[in-house]
Amino acid sequence: MSTDAAEPMLEVEDVVHNYGMVQALSHVSLLAAKGEFLTILGSSGSGKTTMLRVISGLERPSSVRRLRIGGEDVAHLPASRRNCTTVFQSYALFPHMSVVENVAYGLKIRRMNTRDALAEARRALAMVQLEAKADRRISQLSGGERQRVALARAVVTQPSVLLLDEPLGALDERLRQDMQIELMELQRSLGITFVYITHSQEEALTMSDRVVLMSQGKIVQSGGPLDLFDRPASRFAAGFMGYENILEGELIGREGDAGIVEFPGGVRIRGTLTSAGLAPGAKVALAIRAERIATAPTGAQEGLGARLISRVYRGKYTDVTVSTGAGALRLRIWHGAADETEEIQRVGWNTRDAVIFAAE
Ligand code: ADP
Ligand code: MG
Repeated sequence: MSTDAAEPMLEVEDVVHNYGMVQALSHVSLLAAKGEFLTILGSSGSGKTTMLRVISGLERPSSVRRLRIGGEDVAHLPASRRNCTTVFQSYALFPHMSVVENVAYGLKIRRMNTRDALAEARRALAMVQLEAKADRRISQLSGGERQRVALARAVVTQPSVLLLDEPLGALDERLRQDMQIELMELQRSLGITFVYITHSQEEALTMSDRVVLMSQGKIVQSGGPLDLFDRPASRFAAGFMGYENILEGELIGREGDAGIVEFPGGVRIRGTLTSAGLAPGAKVALAIRAERIATAPTGAQEGLGARLISRVYRGKYTDVTVSTGAGALRLRIWHGAADETEEIQRVGWNTRDAVIFAAE
């Protein structure tokens, strides 16, 4: 196995998978580097689990050009001979075994002797802060603790790639946030390549080195968390990443990645182009987050006249809707902010916060 960090640990090229008439994966390719935390993000049914099952060998794809783990072609190897392990949302633990026996199980079936297997298992339990509960029954653990056992059981075999299918999905919000941090720390300390599935953009942005956004069996966009958050390159990506305002107009000029969009009433707004190949005359959409819109724009910002339509008090902030020459805009005004109580006559934002992509 290569130790070169730039070398991909996981290579999937052009996988297609059909379940009968349903195309679950449509020419999907992805790479994960050694030690990388890669997240596959997408709504239910987008093909995430199918992708993991193809990588792990639980599903034989309809076709794939290349499937390698650690440089080795695994396309024709059974799941048991691929150097990867999957952690599922349903923990799939053995209820009649103790915690440490559950973790040691995978080592024993790999023919490690019992004493060494139990010692390794205790070390893995220490990594997930569970060594004190090693001798308990599974039924004596909370949901969060069971998920930790499942993690310890997965990492104890030292896979090259750990696949995680919505592992925190069954936990409540508070515990999920704590576990996100723990998982990240575990991944950094082990240096194992993680391929993590989630439908939660917040989870993806918190944990990942890189995010792959999927929709309907295809990869829509991939990049660092900030690329996806601040530079969505399509209407789908902007919507999925939570952009409240998406306005349609025509691109009338561009210079580098700066563009000018004209709206039906003649209003023009400057923004930043995120998709390649857009020429003046193209139908485009301009997207901006509610919280990036100010009600007292500075001279350096892009500004527009505005009239209040509605205000909804939400505790920590107020959601405001205004009408402008470019259309209705949603704003979020945080309580305690300088512009909180002012009457709204103008709104504005920094040009880089308004992103422009093809209208589709
Ligand atoms: P996700 O994990 O993103 O929710 P899946 O990979 O589970 O998505 O599913 C992708 C698509 O394939 C969906 O349309 C789903 O209904 C379909 N699908 C998944 N598993 C099967 C199966 N065993 N038989 C038939 N269709 C399936
Ligand atoms: Mg799934």
